[in-house]
Amino acid sequence: MKIIESAKKMQALSESLRNQGKIVTFVPTMGYFHEGHLDLMREGRKRGDCLVISIYVNPTQFGPNEDFEKYPRDLERDRTMAESVGVDVIFYPPTAEMYPPYYQTYVTVENVTNNLCGLSRPGHFRGVATICAKLFNLVKPHIAVFGKKDFQQLVTIKRMVQDLNMDLEVIGMPTTREQDGLAMSSRNIYLTLDERVSALSLSRSLKLAKGLYEQGERDAGKIIGEVRKHIESHPHTTIDYVQICDTTTMKDVVLLDGESVLAMAVRVGKTRLIDNYVFGEPLEI
Ligand code: AMP
Repeated sequence: MKIIESAKKMQALSESLRNQGKIVTFVPTMGYFHEGHLDLMREGRKRGDCLVISIYVNPTQFGPNEDFEKYPRDLERDRTMAESVGVDVIFYPPTAEMYPPYYQTYVTVENVTNNLCGLSRPGHFRGVATICAKLFNLVKPHIAVFGKKDFQQLVTIKRMVQDLNMDLEVIGMPTTREQDGLAMSSRNIYLTLDERVSALSLSRSLKLAKGLYEQGERDAGKIIGEVRKHIESHPHTTIDYVQICDTTTMKDVVLLDGESVLAMAVRVGKTRLIDNYVFGEPLEI
């Protein structure tokens, strides 16, 4: 397994792999791996000849009062975990490579970023779209693998790839969960023991919503009401949003007729957690 820090070297390696007819697969990450990240890598491993991952805590997707400085980082731990699932290359650029002096170009994906996390984290998706566009230009993957855990991010990246005619396929993988249902996240280490218990209200409320849907409930307001009630009955929780949106437009729906996603962001103590459920899909909790 190679670690590459230089943008030019990454590009040269990918160019040569492509010229040899190799399929390059790619998993972009911010590091501090958990099983969810490893599942994406296993998928990438299966689908290609050369599996590249990136580890980069991207400053442009963090707001001024967010956890950029505090975000967990541990390259040694990540390196061992990546090697265990057969990663070929870790692209690990310093910020000087990604945003050199005079940097001034950003990618804005419009409508689908105007709701949910786009409202509570202004500028977040501009940062995400920009870094992904740059990484795609450097790694030149045939296939990039993302998690559905960050559902709006996945929709945004798919939109950007289609709108800008980028020459790669974007694949979304199901959310990997702890045994008790909590969606895996690098941020879960911020939770105290008490908060970890309250954090279960997110996945449990998804299950509750799934049950209501399966009993025939199609009124978005009623489902949201029950979900909010469940989450609010737990200490340490502050709801940022609970919404049901169309999976293509990411606009709120009143009635669940087309494909809809229940998306939530909840602060548990000081930690902001997100989770979601696409109605009609399996939910293994
Ligand atoms: P991050 O390092 O948190 O930015 O995430 C890197 C990639 O891993 C993104 O595509 C995320 O959607 C994905 N991911 C994060 N958590 C999970 C999870 N629990 N299950 C599956 N994929 C995940």
